[in-house]
Amino acid sequence: ADAARVPALVIGSGYGGSVAALRLAEAGIDVHLVEMGMAWDTPGADGKIFANTTSPDQRSFWLRTRTKQPLSNFLGFPIDKDIPRYTGILDAEEFSGITVYQGRGVGGGSLVNGGMAVTPKRENFGSILPTVNADEMYSTYYPRANAGLGVGLVDPGWFDTAECYQYARVGRKHAQRSGFPFVFVPDVYDWRYMEQEQANTVPRSALAGEILYGNNYGKKSLQKTYLPRIAATGRVTISPLHRVTSVTPASGGGYTVMLEQLTTSGTVSATKSVTADKVFFAAGSVGTSKLLVKLKATGALPNLNGEVGKGWGDNGNVMCGRANHIWDPTGSLQSSIPCGGIDNWAAGGAFAEVAPLPTGIETWASFYLSITKNPNRAQFTWNPATQSVDLNWQTAWKQPSIDMAKSIFDKINAKEGTIYRTDLFGTYKIWGDHLTYHPLGGAVLGKATDNYGRLAGYQGLYAIDGSLIPGNTSVNPFVTITALAERNIEKIIATDF
Ligand code: FAD
Repeated sequence: ADAARVPALVIGSGYGGSVAALRLAEAGIDVHLVEMGMAWDTPGADGKIFANTTSPDQRSFWLRTRTKQPLSNFLGFPIDKDIPRYTGILDAEEFSGITVYQGRGVGGGSLVNGGMAVTPKRENFGSILPTVNADEMYSTYYPRANAGLGVGLVDPGWFDTAECYQYARVGRKHAQRSGFPFVFVPDVYDWRYMEQEQANTVPRSALAGEILYGNNYGKKSLQKTYLPRIAATGRVTISPLHRVTSVTPASGGGYTVMLEQLTTSGTVSATKSVTADKVFFAAGSVGTSKLLVKLKATGALPNLNGEVGKGWGDNGNVMCGRANHIWDPTGSLQSSIPCGGIDNWAAGGAFAEVAPLPTGIETWASFYLSITKNPNRAQFTWNPATQSVDLNWQTAWKQPSIDMAKSIFDKINAKEGTIYRTDLFGTYKIWGDHLTYHPLGGAVLGKATDNYGRLAGYQGLYAIDGSLIPGNTSVNPFVTITALAERNIEKIIATDF
């Protein structure tokens, strides 16, 4: 690809990057899609492409010699283990006050996530993306995103009897007995396949503990939705294991993009440059923010404005477990795909997913990932001493999230006469407050960019991923990231090409 020239280069192949690549290609524009992670299309020694959560291996983590599982402990024992350093699928990226989990590979976060595909309530949209026309989003772009992603809902009748959702029925019962609404949460998992897994007529995926490190069968990641459509256009070249390190104006117009080709042990095997007329930053909230902050500070793109790197939030993620009574078993067979949540957003600022704990044994534990209205926002800055980008989030900034989650679980514990689990995140630690799965912001729409993601200061540079969203979506974020990308790319294709 040396010295090649392309009309459009997209950095990152998650939701934003896949939407951009597909729509550009459909409009007849050739695209080079660059992805630092692997293609994830080749089985390993066990015949499977992806590892499961019960036996993580080199495929599981991005360039680590030891796993860093979100649940670090169980029954008092640390569960992390040594693995070979490899360009694995889940990055646990550590900043000073928070670990940010992200997907690495062609398909981005869609490879590792739970597939929960939630459209925010219409009444909350104004506080999520205040400058975006909500009528257009709810009439056109949310429906387009939901259709493109293959979003569906569990059959409530089947849910009521399925062994693998015993844990979710216990979660529903406890929520309802305390007066909280329990809602089914849509997901991109193939629900028909899930039913067949339960019936044992197909190879198991969600019922074999597959989540976090990829799903071999039932989950409709971008590998089963946008990416095949991208391939079918014949206009998109995908370069896996290539990392973008620089974007700078080219002398003859457009931009010079510098790439490093990586080996699977993470070393750089080649350095390349591509010239692109237009460049779309879709490296995820963290990836896009890190690139833009570095490029502004080091003089590659000095005219980016001062909003770059600002407005970052964790979508208020906080986790906890509850210890149930002996008469409330949650089941030894648990689907890794959550399908229900407790909605206390309006009253208490928390929306809690009833999450699985797929250990394969009975634990009498109820586990929850709460999304909360945490008001704290952090900033990425360039650190010249370390030549890297810092994030100034502090662990103590999770306290509002804990308080909001407690609006649900203190009440349930009081009603049920139960207590919090203290063995999941360390010894005697109740709250999983050290991490997020939902990084958002850093190139906020209408601040670092115009109202369609055009980066201020340069023509032909765009942000088109979770970096545009100012820190919170009130629910799981990828449907909103996809819908916003669909909205923005439609405008950009119509006016900028
Ligand atoms: P990403 O999907 O993160 O894609 C960015 C891509 O860019 C990545 O593939 C990355 O490798 C690549 N990249 C980064 N830097 C570079 C570079 N310099 N050069 C080349 N490539 C680069 N959301 C939900 O809505 N529902 C869920 O159930 C859910 N569960 C989750 C569970 C887990 C464990 C995790 C980690 C996330 C979960 N999420 C969930 C969050 C969701 O996956 C993300 O919000 C979403 O993937 C973000 O989309 P994006 O397009 O902004 O970026």
